[in-house]
Amino acid sequence: MPAFRDPDHDALGRAILAYAEHRLALDPVPLDAPLTEAQLRERVGETITEDGIGGLPALSLFTRRLAPACLSTDHPRYLSFIPCAPSDAAAMFDLVVGASSIYGGSWLEGAGAVYAENQALRWIADLVGLPEQAGGVFVPGGTVGNLSALVAARHTARAAHPATRPFRIAATDFAHSSIVSAASVMDAEVVGVHVRDDFRMDPDALRATLEEHGPETFFAVVATCGTTNFGVVDDLASVGAVAREYGLWFHVDGAYGGAGLAAPSVRHLYDGIEFADSFIVDPHKWLFAPYDCCALLYRDPALARAAHTQKAGYLDVLTDAPEFNPTDYSIGLTRRARGLPFWFSLATHGTRAYTEAIEHTLSVIRYAADQIRARDYTELVREPDLSVVVFRRLGWSAADYHAWSDRLLADQVAFVVPTTYAGETLARFAVVNPDTTTDDIDLILDTMR
Ligand SMILES: *Cc1c(COP(=O)(O)O)cnc(C)c1O
Repeated sequence: MPAFRDPDHDALGRAILAYAEHRLALDPVPLDAPLTEAQLRERVGETITEDGIGGLPALSLFTRRLAPACLSTDHPRYLSFIPCAPSDAAAMFDLVVGASSIYGGSWLEGAGAVYAENQALRWIADLVGLPEQAGGVFVPGGTVGNLSALVAARHTARAAHPATRPFRIAATDFAHSSIVSAASVMDAEVVGVHVRDDFRMDPDALRATLEEHGPETFFAVVATCGTTNFGVVDDLASVGAVAREYGLWFHVDGAYGGAGLAAPSVRHLYDGIEFADSFIVDPHKWLFAPYDCCALLYRDPALARAAHTQKAGYLDVLTDAPEFNPTDYSIGLTRRARGLPFWFSLATHGTRAYTEAIEHTLSVIRYAADQIRARDYTELVREPDLSVVVFRRLGWSAADYHAWSDRLLADQVAFVVPTTYAGETLARFAVVNPDTTTDDIDLILDTMR
């Protein structure tokens, strides 16, 4: 008998599948809310004992006490940060990945999984317009994706310019916090580029910034397609042209907004993205996959492989093989085949279903923008590019926004935290859930009256 076979193995298996099935069938799912550490201590107590508490009791603790203390990011009125609303197919397949013990780092060990992941990556590469040789890997999130891409960019620049050792990254203030974090990990420096009035990177300011600091000190220009706070898509054609003019690596961060590439109504905003040397999009944001999943793509994967391949005697059998090893393209060695839930859903539903679901979320945000304009107590801060809208409740202080947000959660109506911009507290909706409706928008806006 296997070492860890539970005496209730069959019953536990059925109970876990039944719970998963039940959770996925709920409509809507409960919003739920966090508890304090003291409350959890009282309700849950100690769970780790020498003899174990048994699988069914542990599952029961989770379903009754722990799960309700976690917000459901797939609730249709969870509009904070960037929600995560996986398709049933993707969420279900995550169970299969968990049960399969697939090592997703190498072709030798995970060929079938890597083949499928690469097809999903190819769909994204085609949306971007990257050439045939493009490729990459699914990493845990945009933060690791950005860091990995920037490490490849710097490695490439330093190989070309060993004397100047480029150490700077050009990006705007609207770039995601993970760019600054990546720079800090790399001991690199982010130089801020001015944005125009429309919140997009100013290509003339980019040129001026490069000239001021010396273009030879930079190794990357980072543009964003879908800034996290406002959903702004940079003018990728003109920014990319400046990057190319100076021979700099052009990285496009589409962790949130990259999914809009699949939506014809906004596709024109991305013109120029085909110039990207590297690109990321998080399927766990707007592509209906469960956490944690970021697609990282390179125009020329060989440059990333040169930067990232780990070398050791015990790995030679992998690194000397001609096959494609995902692990060679990012920070990290061991990897879960985390692209599989996304691949499975894409294979199941087809790409048109993705286009339709993304277009639906865009139509809900356009409706929200119309309502915000029409109501006499709300005002748009900026017209939405994608599926995020930021607006003002006229006459409200920061405390009013926070009290409203707290009340919505306490009443289990919605989870909508305020944001800030230029020192002002504001309301923000991010819609990536295809089950969020215009009625949900009205219901929340009505509570601000
Ligand atoms: C969310 C986000 C990131 C970070 O991605 P994680 O998956 O949270 O690590 C990076 N860039 C942008 C634009 C994002 O919206």
